[in-house]
Amino acid sequence: MIKFDTFYIQCPRCKCWMEGHLLISSMVNQSILYSDGKILNDGYITENQKMIVCPACSHWSWVEKYEEPYISKTRPKATFYTWNSWRFYGVHSVSNKGKMALVNHYRNFLNNGNYNIEQEIYFRRLMWWAFNDFVRNRHQINIDCYTSKEMSFKVWYRNRKKIMEGIELFDKCRDHFNENLRNLIDLYKLRYTPDDEEYESVNLDIIEIYRQLGDFENAKKLLEQTTRRTHFISTIERKVDEQDDLVFLVSG
Ligand SMILES: [Zn+2]
Repeated sequence: MIKFDTFYIQCPRCKCWMEGHLLISSMVNQSILYSDGKILNDGYITENQKMIVCPACSHWSWVEKYEEPYISKTRPKATFYTWNSWRFYGVHSVSNKGKMALVNHYRNFLNNGNYNIEQEIYFRRLMWWAFNDFVRNRHQINIDCYTSKEMSFKVWYRNRKKIMEGIELFDKCRDHFNENLRNLIDLYKLRYTPDDEEYESVNLDIIEIYRQLGDFENAKKLLEQTTRRTHFISTIERKVDEQDDLVFLVSG
């Protein structure tokens, strides 16, 4: 069964082609949502990659919308780079080394370009997710993952070691993590007002950012002003009370 729509992007500088895939949403079996807003559909991140680095000439291109003229559905006659060779800058995001490389890519973009506010929000939001990837699946270090036969002992043990290393790396990056989140809050407040359609979801992001910054007082203040009550919001509330500041699995 084909689960992807295939598209092609051409580097505006060296004219080489890159092949990409868009998951067909009706074919998705499993959707996972995390408290920082990252969604994985069958393991694939749903957010389109807007900054693309050409694997041949390293040219940076910003692709705002995945539609023509930026992308084409027609298979080019020339050879093309496979999705894995350029997607998320070719990093191997399963390893801690790859996760760190992804964080550094976002840092590099932010340090070397002039962006509008939407673009900066995009980079900082994805950088937030990239930092959280170190601790995102820490529930898997629990012995239950092995005893419930979800993983073999060898796989569980190796995975556990990797996650423990990830937690250590995350702690080391805390200052950068916090600095990024403080900047993101400022940008959100500058960009969005209550009249914006996205305001409610942005406000939820801000509450979650305050919690992840360990600023439970501000998180609590905003929670008290929120009239909506969902499973997600009550979980944030509980985590704020417990003074727990890490990303968590909401559903999936
Ligand atoms: Zn190129």
